[in-house]
Amino acid sequence: MYINEKIRNLATSVEKEITPYFERIDEIARFNQEKVLDAFIKNRVGENCLNPSTGYGYGDVGRETLEAIYADVFGAEDALVRHNIVNGTHCLTISLFAVLRPGDTLLAATGKPYDTLEEVIGIAGNSGGSLKDFGVSYKQVDLIDGDVDLEGITKALTPDVKTVILQRSKGYDWRDTLSCEKLGKAITHIKSINPDVCCIVDNCYGEFAETTEPSQHGADLVVGSLIKNPGGSLAQSGGYIVGKKEYVELAAFRQTAPGIGKECGATLGQNRYMYQGLFMAPHIVAQAIKSAVFAGALMQKLGYEVNPKPEANHYDIIQAIKFNDKDKLIKFIQGIQKASPVDSYALPMPWDMPGYQHEVIMAAGTFVSGASIELSADAPIKPPYVGFMQGGITYESARLAIMNAAAEIYED
Ligand SMILES: *Cc1c(COP(=O)(O)O)cnc(C)c1O
Repeated sequence: MYINEKIRNLATSVEKEITPYFERIDEIARFNQEKVLDAFIKNRVGENCLNPSTGYGYGDVGRETLEAIYADVFGAEDALVRHNIVNGTHCLTISLFAVLRPGDTLLAATGKPYDTLEEVIGIAGNSGGSLKDFGVSYKQVDLIDGDVDLEGITKALTPDVKTVILQRSKGYDWRDTLSCEKLGKAITHIKSINPDVCCIVDNCYGEFAETTEPSQHGADLVVGSLIKNPGGSLAQSGGYIVGKKEYVELAAFRQTAPGIGKECGATLGQNRYMYQGLFMAPHIVAQAIKSAVFAGALMQKLGYEVNPKPEANHYDIIQAIKFNDKDKLIKFIQGIQKASPVDSYALPMPWDMPGYQHEVIMAAGTFVSGASIELSADAPIKPPYVGFMQGGITYESARLAIMNAAAEIYED
């Protein structure tokens, strides 16, 4: 690893400035740890829960107990937690197809959803089997100055709108992450106009960043990936859906088959990782947010605009850095990869990744392939060349990689 003296000194001074912000992060982690541990105890987790099932997986006590724990932790009625949901996009797709029917309209209330959902909805690409192919229309209300446009939502909420999707995190946008409180206000507003609308929150990267989750603020379904926050870096694959019982059942019918739902699904030895990962998640998320604060502070010192600012409340684990320069962006991301524990010798390059409309570069020198709760950095290759860095399962290791990435462009 190559970190010059100047970057090391800068890091030391930056760290003195940001230490006071860590107290709030630790406090949230303490609160969430108690919530998670309480749920383990209440649901009587035993050694038997960690054992694998095979075949149909009927009566897998580990799977059923873990789903009860997720429901408790998220303050929800029910949960579907499965290792064989392939990623966050798949999990969101299951939820959308579960609740929408031909002739319905889907409304995106926080601007355009995450890039990979464009082909799912049918507004980009020409993939067969999109919502559009099944006769589901789509409209969206953009954020105004980073805030939810309640008036716009009022106008857009025509009777054909059966489902509203809201996104907590910024995705690949230069915008503020929405706090649970803001999401809650938007959902309350939507329900005041039509209480029967199903509100789905894309919760990716937001879990355990606050002391509550969107399911405790009126969301009907809350969806996320297990190779992000709630998997605690140990889950090897998977996704979760929590929320109202009737909607979780529909999601389970979509994930397996109508009439079978949650009753089937062998866990094949994945339970142990999902349990221990959830147990670790509050702490790991705190490590990731501290890493984000450090990166924001260091890059700001080097003259780059960052979002969120180091002193701001972090509502997810993402740190966005505006490079205004394609080369610097690419070098920074490569610098993160070079200081990773796995595949440090691989050089990430921009490529046409499935599901994305721009070339994307991704650094993920991770133990679980592509897991972005581990330190990772990625960016669509388009002006103003914003890099999105997230994760870090130990603050100490993420800090080194961020310094290494900063040194890469400092040399320029
Ligand atoms: C990661 C993410 C997704 C899903 O992405 P996958 O790579 O399919 O897991 C969706 N929405 C947001 C905001 C995300 O951060």
